[in-house]
Amino acid sequence: MSTKTVAGQTIKEHFFNTIVVGAGAAGMNCAKKLCEYMDQKGVDQPEKRIAVVTAGLPLGASRMSGSDKQTYYKMGTSPDIADSAESFAKSLTAGGCCHGDLALAEGIGSLRGFFNLVEAGVPFPNDPMGTYIGYKTDHDPYERATSAGPKTSKFMSQCLEKIIRRFGVEIFDHQEAVEFLTTGQGDDKRIIGIVTLNRKAVTENNFGINVFYCENLVLAAGGPGALYETSVYPLGQTGIHGIAFKAGLAGENLTESQFGLASTKFRWNVSGTYMQVVPRIFSTDADGNDEREFLTDFFPSMSKMATDIFLKGYQWPFDPQRIENHQSSLIDVIVFNETQKGRRVFMDFLKNPIGNDKMDAFAIEDLEDEALDYLKATDAMQPLPIVRLKHMNPPAIDIYTEHGIDLFTEPLEIAVCAQHNNGGFGIDRWWQSNIKHTFVIGEMAGSHGVKRPGGSALNAGQVGSQRAAEFIVNAYGCEIAKE
Ligand SMILES: Cc1cc2nc3c(=O)[nH]c(=O)nc-3n(C[C@H](O)[C@H](O)[C@H](O)COP(=O)(O)OP(=O)(O)OC[C@H]3O[C@@H](n4cnc5c(N)ncnc54)[C@H](O)[C@@H]3O)c2cc1C
Repeated sequence: MSTKTVAGQTIKEHFFNTIVVGAGAAGMNCAKKLCEYMDQKGVDQPEKRIAVVTAGLPLGASRMSGSDKQTYYKMGTSPDIADSAESFAKSLTAGGCCHGDLALAEGIGSLRGFFNLVEAGVPFPNDPMGTYIGYKTDHDPYERATSAGPKTSKFMSQCLEKIIRRFGVEIFDHQEAVEFLTTGQGDDKRIIGIVTLNRKAVTENNFGINVFYCENLVLAAGGPGALYETSVYPLGQTGIHGIAFKAGLAGENLTESQFGLASTKFRWNVSGTYMQVVPRIFSTDADGNDEREFLTDFFPSMSKMATDIFLKGYQWPFDPQRIENHQSSLIDVIVFNETQKGRRVFMDFLKNPIGNDKMDAFAIEDLEDEALDYLKATDAMQPLPIVRLKHMNPPAIDIYTEHGIDLFTEPLEIAVCAQHNNGGFGIDRWWQSNIKHTFVIGEMAGSHGVKRPGGSALNAGQVGSQRAAEFIVNAYGCEIAKE
């Protein structure tokens, strides 16, 4: 590191081979893989060649977000159901806006990425024979999903971080990326460095400017969370889309954002068991008065309405093809319309759904077969949603308790929230952007597709980070940027 004074500002300059921007699950794995590949090649002191730069180590979706059981979607590991990378790729591309070669690479690299996490210590459940057990998620025709609980992606980031710290890689924290330094034009264009503001070092006279020069840049700064008012992105997740566009990176499928029902006081997805226990959903006026069972006007029967609430569990994202004929995304539309009227919407785990005078009263046995069979199979036929939730998934209750919300005594305010950008920046099959030596991984990469199966974003982040690291070390080399 050296310092320079320009216009009265002290600027710290750092020189590395590769800078990874972002310390979520994708960024952490890329740094780990860079270290390992350099080490395998006998490169001296990988830790002096690689650095991670982040606006905040505890920030970002990986470390702050989740759901009842945050899902990791991987190739099937069942001992009796065969899976293939091609079939995996077909599931990823099914909804469109997802390149076939990227989807295939995500399938081929899936188990490698998954077992890398297992070996790093992420506590994915396995049986005594060593099988990593799968279950079904939204848009998932097979049982490829697994979970390490509500905080899967946090565990991933932390386990990977431990390893890169063991390598001695420096993580520059509190560094908000504000500009990319570019040279050249057309095919010769390169990003040769990034400018950050160290938010902890900003004073009246000093902006805390740092410049990180690099041969290779890996962008892993997550989604454009701060763009949305009604959002389940964690607070503080700003992203770097603006400066990336300014530097000349090409976007792809950017309009494809994913939305779904989430709690707003504490930002958390209410997918999975939160819905499968079939809570009452009601609205109030802005002051919390005038309770209404606003869903009831749109459903022909209690059975249909309650079954749709159940199905929102694993048909979680809003899906325009699941609205007509009283399918489950009708609920998102009705909730959205209700909040647009200035009303507030809540889930109440202390009560079963309440109907109108044209409906039968709720009876769990009246649920349609898919819901009833599931609840019977999981022994979750208790009389109240909160008791069913406690039976099916106690950590789903604990996570709210940790954040000062007691589901045993209070309703949970929800809204249809922006959750994920399924587009992003264009990449090739090594996750390299249209600017050579600059790679885009994790949520920022435009690889996800409109109907990504739940959990596939985490798989994509692991595969992309591994492939970017492999390409950098083997094709671009490990030299440190020169002053
Ligand atoms: C509520 C919720 C539930 C989810 N559930 C699932 C799920 O079940 N399964 C699944 O596969 N996916 C899920 N996702 C999506 C998944 O969490 C993300 O795709 C993934 O965590 C993104 O990881 P990442 O490493 O790309 O970015 P993040 O984990 O978002 O990390 C971004 C990093 O960049 C840093 N950063 C941001 N802006 C700047 C800046 N200006 N300058 C410097 N650094 C910056 C941040 O501090 C952070 O370190 C969910 C997302 C949310 C919000």
